Amino acid sequence: MAFELIDLPYPDTALDPAISAETLSYHHGKHHQAYIDKTNAAIEGTDLADKPLKEVIASARGSDQGLFNNAAQSWNHGFYWHSMAADGGSPSDELTSMIDDAFGSVDDLKSKLKDRGAGHFASGWVWLAEKGGVLSIEETHDGDTLADSGFNPLLTIDVWEHAYYLDHQNKRPAYLDAVVDSKLNWSFASENLARGTTWQYPG
Ligand code: MN
Repeated sequence: MAFELIDLPYPDTALDPAISAETLSYHHGKHHQAYIDKTNAAIEGTDLADKPLKEVIASARGSDQGLFNNAAQSWNHGFYWHSMAADGGSPSDELTSMIDDAFGSVDDLKSKLKDRGAGHFASGWVWLAEKGGVLSIEETHDGDTLADSGFNPLLTIDVWEHAYYLDHQNKRPAYLDAVVDSKLNWSFASENLARGTTWQYPG
């Protein structure tokens, strides 16, 4: 069965002014759609066609770079839409305790996410992730993903220019300030931690 572009889990104005409806119309409606379409075209008629997206990614890693890039970007964007919300609430008690242990405080984590995102060279992704009961900030380059990595990703932020250029031009730190300060979905992060296994792309 072919993968589908998942709906945004909020109205397209929900993240404004951090991320405008115009940015979402391109980023979700054009970029993410293209990654899905190319993934579907590549797996059609193969034994990957009925596999979950995580398995497609793991299978293509290191063997089919074109499929890997499109499948990983399909997963990353689905995860990214859920990593944000108009009002993302607060981390659960369990997550707060682990954040305190790893980073000092939630505010310290936010500051470090911004620094890592701003310092990431060129295109990629910045993640809050869990492995072995310990939290860390991870970075992946270009279309690479934590979906099949052994980490349990809790949140991600897209730092490709297409994520922020219409709203913030070249000022990636302004995008990171706006998203990290008020749009991260701590409820989603807490759910991912509590589940203990990597989020599944629907379908
Ligand atoms: Mn993107």
